[in-house]
Amino acid sequence: MATTKSTKAAAGKTSRYNELRTMLEERRRELLSEVQGKIRDVRADGNKEREVLDQGESSEVDIQEDIEFALIQMKSETLNKIDAALRRLEDGSYGDCFECGEEISEARLRALPFAVRCKDCEEARESAEQRERMLARKGSSAFLFDSSN
Ligand SMILES: [Zn+2]
Repeated sequence: MATTKSTKAAAGKTSRYNELRTMLEERRRELLSEVQGKIRDVRADGNKEREVLDQGESSEVDIQEDIEFALIQMKSETLNKIDAALRRLEDGSYGDCFECGEEISEARLRALPFAVRCKDCEEARESAEQRERMLARKGSSAFLFDSSN
């Protein structure tokens, strides 16, 4: 894999985020082996145990498999986020806010390595979403009120 090459322009920034890159790559390796191990487990268990179980037991296995599947899905999503963060590290855009282009503080990146917005933009987005939810609620109750007239 030729992922170690770094462009000159990104070199300064890349060295600043070297620690984060190492952290992300370690996390990625862990998740990858967990996901692959889980998929193997589910397949192996599903095939050999299904036939000998009665109805009640096999539905318990189904629930267990659903949980395992949800876990795998969650971990796969995290893997995607890590991949995206590593790509941003490669092209030098990692740590820049998606919205305003300002640098995301290192403390924030340490706590949330996949953050794509700075604190201000994230908070602005969250309160905008909250406003929208409130408007949606108000909108629907206003609609009910209107239609009752
Ligand atoms: Zn921002």
